[in-house]
Amino acid sequence: MKIRFLGALGRVTGSCSLLNHRDRYYLVDCGSAQTGNTVELNEGSAFPFKPRGIRAVFLTHAHFDHSGLLPVLVRERFNGRICCTRATADLTYLSLMDVAALGTGGFSASDVSKLKFVCPDEDPRFQFGRFFPVDRDLTCAFIRTSHVLGSVGFEFQFSDWKETTPGQRKTIVFSGDIGCNTDENPYQSLLNGRQYPSTHAKYVVCESTYGDRDRDRAHVDFWARLRALKNLLAKAATLGPGATIVFPCFSLQRTQELLFDLYCVLEVLLTNDERRSLLQNHGNQVRRVADILVDSPLAAKYGPIFVRELQRSRSNGKPFYMNTAMKSRLHQAEFAVDSIITTLLCPENGRAEGRNYSLSYCSRAESQEAAVRIIIAGAGMCNGGRVTEHLKRLLTSPRTVVALTGYQSAGTPGAELMRRAIDPSAQMDTCFWGLSHSEVQADIGTLSAYYSGHADRNGLVDFIMRKNSHHSYQVVKRVFLIHGENCARASLKRSIMNRAAQTNTGDRLVASVELPEQFSGWFDLLKNNWVVEYHPAVDRMDMENAALKAELRRRDEQISEEQWQGLPFAD
Ligand SMILES: [Zn+2]
Repeated sequence: MKIRFLGALGRVTGSCSLLNHRDRYYLVDCGSAQTGNTVELNEGSAFPFKPRGIRAVFLTHAHFDHSGLLPVLVRERFNGRICCTRATADLTYLSLMDVAALGTGGFSASDVSKLKFVCPDEDPRFQFGRFFPVDRDLTCAFIRTSHVLGSVGFEFQFSDWKETTPGQRKTIVFSGDIGCNTDENPYQSLLNGRQYPSTHAKYVVCESTYGDRDRDRAHVDFWARLRALKNLLAKAATLGPGATIVFPCFSLQRTQELLFDLYCVLEVLLTNDERRSLLQNHGNQVRRVADILVDSPLAAKYGPIFVRELQRSRSNGKPFYMNTAMKSRLHQAEFAVDSIITTLLCPENGRAEGRNYSLSYCSRAESQEAAVRIIIAGAGMCNGGRVTEHLKRLLTSPRTVVALTGYQSAGTPGAELMRRAIDPSAQMDTCFWGLSHSEVQADIGTLSAYYSGHADRNGLVDFIMRKNSHHSYQVVKRVFLIHGENCARASLKRSIMNRAAQTNTGDRLVASVELPEQFSGWFDLLKNNWVVEYHPAVDRMDMENAALKAELRRRDEQISEEQWQGLPFAD
């Protein structure tokens, strides 16, 4: 088995890795690295390899930076299957169709319709962590990662034809994106805890998005997050008629988590006295505390998939994905939890009502019957989508509160709002909404630290190193860090090596950590080393080029080791 890292190296988009098992080729993820509206091209192709040579794609989850180039892969003559969970298949299909309709992904609806998914979790014998056959001497198991609904990592077991001893199998793990919930602390609302690589793992390919950051304790506490939401609601209620909270929100997972949290605040946490006080702010002219509008057609389409998958049980009776803490948090029996999930995520005719709230999907009708109007709309970074129209209209009102719920990358309108959320006196670039600086009267805040979908540094180190059973563990020969900025990767590498040096009894041993680059070439898992090879079935680059690049890399490393000392400078 050999692997080659192709994307998300030194950045957090464009995940794509290539596997070679006995001259058959597989991809793990096929994500878009695009930051604008165009697909990156490589000699007239979107890929640095030949799509026709790929036998199958293993897809970790539905996010665009992991799945966004699948339709282009098909258009460029990939004819294999896409192996993932049923939830990921359905969510990916809807999300790619949405992008095709917008025309921003470089592919059409017809390309998307040609994707062929295969979902091992539909087999009644399926279990997380149980291997299923992929090819001769190659098996795969899914590890639930609790990042978004349906997200998994992959554990591949293989043996090579050169091996003489049968049964000597090796294991490589691909983490995909790792979520925040653990069995000990499933503080995010909907999903149960993430799982860990098996005792056999010899190689681990791990994401590193937050490899340089640890999350504050308050931000990993379910009730602390609800209290923050309740305070926000109370603040908005004092603003009088027309008070509105706008949540720019990703339509996958974040919207559903936020809806559940709002339900908990409004129907579980809010006391009668607090309710009375909120309504009194409006002279008792209103009937309810909040009218919630989910202005996201995609979130509405995701609803039935969330309901189906959250209510799904494994053969041992445990839920596939649903957070088992929900029952106690809602003070409800299981059947009532199911009914609440349906009411919130997929209500009949797109509408629902409770004692303190009304909920409506995609209806723009405005009611004056609640103390606060809540608008949940995409995009999460405010760079398009329906939230833009709401912001144009509402940012000028002092009765508007904007609450950010996620990471805002530089250059997006969301990053400007974040600047103001951190420092209320900060200057913002308001051109995105056609407003002058003085016209923005809204109160802007952030709940982003509560809602991140990625494990922090400690969580990532735990995923790689923590022993999750009493069995004996293999030494991890190499950890490859991908899907992170270079500073995050370097920092995570230091953290792993520091913890490895402590040799805690609860940790597995790690021999080395690598930060692969695009020019790194193939890595041979049997030789445990980088190799220069030409694979005509998939390589675009010829042997000579590959050798040249490897030599350049070797010299680069030599130079950086010498730190340029002794090198003469030109006059
Ligand atoms: Zn993701």
